[in-house]
Amino acid sequence: MSFPNSSELLQRSLAAVWHPCTQMKHHETLPLVPVVRGEGAWLVDADGRRLLDGISSWWVNLFGHANPRINAALRDQLDTLEHVMLAGFTHPPVVELSERLAALTGHRLGHAFYASDGASATEIALKMSVHYWRNSGRPEKCRFISLAGSYHGETAGALAVTDVALFRDAYAPLVRAGSTVPTPDARLAEAGESAADLARRAASVLEAHLAAYHGETAALIVEPLVQGASGMVMYDAEYLRLARALCDRYQVHLIADEIAVGCGRTGTFFAWEQVAGPVAPGATAAGGWPDFICLSKGISGGYLPLSLVLSTDDIYAAFYDDSAARAFLHSHSYTGNPLACRAALATLDIFREDDVLVANQARSRHMRALALERFADHPAVGHLRQQGMILAFDVDTGSLAAGEFARRYFAAALDHGVLLRPIGNTVYFMPPYILGDDEMRHLVDGAAAALERALR
Ligand SMILES: *Cc1c(COP(=O)(O)O)cnc(C)c1O
Repeated sequence: MSFPNSSELLQRSLAAVWHPCTQMKHHETLPLVPVVRGEGAWLVDADGRRLLDGISSWWVNLFGHANPRINAALRDQLDTLEHVMLAGFTHPPVVELSERLAALTGHRLGHAFYASDGASATEIALKMSVHYWRNSGRPEKCRFISLAGSYHGETAGALAVTDVALFRDAYAPLVRAGSTVPTPDARLAEAGESAADLARRAASVLEAHLAAYHGETAALIVEPLVQGASGMVMYDAEYLRLARALCDRYQVHLIADEIAVGCGRTGTFFAWEQVAGPVAPGATAAGGWPDFICLSKGISGGYLPLSLVLSTDDIYAAFYDDSAARAFLHSHSYTGNPLACRAALATLDIFREDDVLVANQARSRHMRALALERFADHPAVGHLRQQGMILAFDVDTGSLAAGEFARRYFAAALDHGVLLRPIGNTVYFMPPYILGDDEMRHLVDGAAAALERALR
């Protein structure tokens, strides 16, 4: 597919394509980037300009663009079976993927239900929870709790548990909003209070809420360790341990939305391993884990739309019956698409073959060292924080509005050869797990140069 030149590509895109989460009018001044090729951690635009993908193309790309191993697996799958419906049919990639994911949870969550995007995974977990309680004779348990600043997707159902005003306000009439409880955001700690103390304080509010409303509550949904879309809010795992115990005590499901934090992003394959401890090989089901885990984004290596919800034997058993009405009534046309599952299997292979989680420890230490060098003493930078392969800091933008800062910063970073897209006044790095030392330095240097430009 070819276009005569990049300006024609841009023009035709602005005329025919409605871009996501974008005020299209901003593109009168903000350049749209015409990408024609990807190579490893780099995107190449129509003029041959190279951009280091510092946010993994919206947090999905784990092992680089045009990864040879994922490409080879997909080529093989393409010549074998591109798609078959999953109702009444099955195929090797979906079986193998489900088994391998179950094993990664130590078989605590042994059943995988598939969809295509993250918001659908959220909807599935919410619907499964409510239907579980209905099947268990508790139909009144149909409300949800989420944390302040939570993000679980933007479809009408997922907005019920998404607490980002910009995404929710316009659609409020469509949404049956759940309850929000305080976030354990470590930045909110008072003098002398540790992140764990603050987590305990936030958990005590959750406890009071559950004590009052557990009878009507189906589930608590959380983004473990990092609330991504509201600005890389990081918090202590103690909150999740306490939340798990409280949900047990009050008979409320716990949904771990690992769409952003799963697949190694926080340092372990599932973020929840930092709550409940590592998964021993050959482990069998035991407590301490969520009732549901949602995965998407990185699971297909950033190649194809794929999401899934893992659930426990207990959840699964509540649907297993002669009655069709007690079955989980949800489907998407592309549920369990073989190409997407095959990309996910190739992604899991890379984790294993390259011992990625171990290699990332050094990579994230290097990212931190470079960021500290550049930003630790910067007068406009605060709350520099890190969790595995996510590093973030907040910028004092002075009289500049946060949204305007983010757009300026994005444009300035492009000029320095890096793709970075701040969330308001929070700049963050969330690179693919393949950056070499020089690439990491290019990323951090570009980020520093962009900061000076954006604040000027
Ligand atoms: C991105 C994201 C979603 C939504 O996924 P989409 O594929 O964009 O619908 C849900 N939850 C979290 C935590 C996310 O980061």
